[in-house]
Amino acid sequence: MSVLNMKAVAVMVLGAVVCLGATVPSTDKPVVSQAQVDEWTKVWQKRLDLNEWTISTLIVRVGELRPDTLGNLKWNSGNRTAVIKVLNPADYELPSSEIPTDIEYTIVHEMIHLQLAALPHDGSSKGVEEKIVNRISEALFQFEKGDAYKPRATVAKTFVKSSDNSEAARSKSKP
Ligand SMILES: [Zn+2]
Repeated sequence: MSVLNMKAVAVMVLGAVVCLGATVPSTDKPVVSQAQVDEWTKVWQKRLDLNEWTISTLIVRVGELRPDTLGNLKWNSGNRTAVIKVLNPADYELPSSEIPTDIEYTIVHEMIHLQLAALPHDGSSKGVEEKIVNRISEALFQFEKGDAYKPRATVAKTFVKSSDNSEAARSKSKP
């Protein structure tokens, strides 16, 4: 196989999804530890039966994500590895009490994208996929958290100021 062909293969098995809404840096936020993030990753990976994947979740600063996003997912279907990035609480705009749940939600959201990674991704169904991922994530979270749970779309609508970016898509996609 030529170097060029190998490159083409490498490109084919790599995927990426960027999603979720807007944030602006702020200070004095609670720390969500790497251990906590690892625990959420472990629990939801098992629930979603994604055990054939090796999934790591990284807490990153705002500069390591695309503008106006709260997380992203990169996967490699070849070796079944995936990396989820979640926003560091220090860069969150939400009230402190909302941040841990929002980070856990991001992990679940990205894992549902990972479920869909088996489907063809030519870019044409991105908006539809985002909507479906939000609906399924919200349903799971509502079930997990019980009556006290506030849908992420509602939380975002209440607390996130920006409206002319990807956050709008999240706010619209109610469960
Ligand atoms: Zn998404």
